[in-house]
Amino acid sequence: MSIQSVVRCESYDQSVMNETVARHFEALKVAELLSPGTRALIKPNLIAARKPESAATTHPALIRAVALWLRERGVESIALADSPGGLYTPSILETVYAASGMKALGDVVELNRDTGFQTRACPPDFENASFNLINPVCQADLIIDIAKLKTHSMTRLSAGVKNLFGCIPGLQKPELHYKHPNIAGFSNMLIELAKLVAPQVTLIDAVDCMEGDGPTGGTVRRLGLTLASRDVFAQDWFAATLMGIDPESVGMLARAKARGWLDPDAIELTGDAPVYADPPFILPETTSVDFTGFLPAFLRAPARKALGRLLKPLPKVDPKKCVGCGRCAESCPAHIIRIENHKAKFTAKGCISCFCCQEMCPAHAISVKRIFGGRTSG
Ligand code: SF4
Ligand code: SF4
Repeated sequence: MSIQSVVRCESYDQSVMNETVARHFEALKVAELLSPGTRALIKPNLIAARKPESAATTHPALIRAVALWLRERGVESIALADSPGGLYTPSILETVYAASGMKALGDVVELNRDTGFQTRACPPDFENASFNLINPVCQADLIIDIAKLKTHSMTRLSAGVKNLFGCIPGLQKPELHYKHPNIAGFSNMLIELAKLVAPQVTLIDAVDCMEGDGPTGGTVRRLGLTLASRDVFAQDWFAATLMGIDPESVGMLARAKARGWLDPDAIELTGDAPVYADPPFILPETTSVDFTGFLPAFLRAPARKALGRLLKPLPKVDPKKCVGCGRCAESCPAHIIRIENHKAKFTAKGCISCFCCQEMCPAHAISVKRIFGGRTSG
């Protein structure tokens, strides 16, 4: 049985967050995971230098509440670490900490500034032989994954599993995109990474979430919840249902279920009654509408293959919004973006539709173009 804790909260007021975390951790018996000398790691979503109000990053009040809870139980070693999108350098970390409100948490956690990593081998039945993980992940013996609930242009859902992609250092993330250019392979890679990192607790900040062009370019959507579980896959399955997204349509979750790592029937709710999004969350522009449905079943796959180029979502730059910062080019695993005359120029050939460029653009200058199809909700 997988216990799924649900707590309603309508604000990020610190006392509300403290009470929320206490209720979750009581329900999940997190105190049993602590021992003298526990080295705890808090892994928030710090995808980019965004303000908490943008709902792209985990809210600092929830992180402070977790750190205070651990401190009250005698845990002295509490690190906070993430590898944001793009370069992984001490100066970029400082910028992200400042914008996201993490800098103010320096009195309760140790903000990571070590940009080293170590290679960790995967079990023999994994398709990935190993992963390079940032040092704080390798050094911790209690990992608390604190994700933000968002839609995602490539994976559809960004929650506990996707948040752990930030355990991969810097530009090794786009390299993994390139190594796994299709959603099936990329999803499988993400769940193997999650299984290797194995966070003991996953918390989801779903008070203010993001819908539409997540994980950075969408709009704020209030759900008024926090969620917690000791099972990251079950947690994400449940979170998807709250958003009105069919969990089976999320590659990571379908694959985790197929591999026997997730049993949706074994999720047992505790705490407050959940809130289900009505209407469902708006999905990213990249979400395909499959118009081959009118064809006989045996013709659908060949039709999709033949029309693949037309169906494929591709990034498009608005030159009026582009400020020529180069963050998109730096993050493009296919190296098909160049900066000319202070504007980004894309070559469509070679694009793997990973949308790292859109994710990293601070000016919201990148949208998605597709000859067929349109935006959908969950
Ligand atoms: S152009 Fe954008 S979507 Fe295409 S491969 Fe590069 S980063 Fe990915
Ligand atoms: S498209 Fe966005 S990320 Fe790329 S150079 Fe322009 S402003 Fe920067």
